[in-house]
Amino acid sequence: MSQQIQCLKCNVEMKLGPVEATYLNSKFPVQLLKCPKCGLVYIPEELARGKMLEVEKALEDK
Ligand SMILES: [Zn+2]
Repeated sequence: MSQQIQCLKCNVEMKLGPVEATYLNSKFPVQLLKCPKCGLVYIPEELARGKMLEVEKALEDK
């Protein structure tokens, strides 16, 4: 299942790549869709809803 998402500004297909996400002053790398032209990052709804928090918690628990 592949989903194609286009940048609304540039009308180009966004590509999956490493992006530095910031949560509570700590940075960590995630793979997200990014516009190769303007660098806009697409944030999936599940990530915006707090899945990022769970990811970070899982890392801290170790
Ligand atoms: Zn763009």
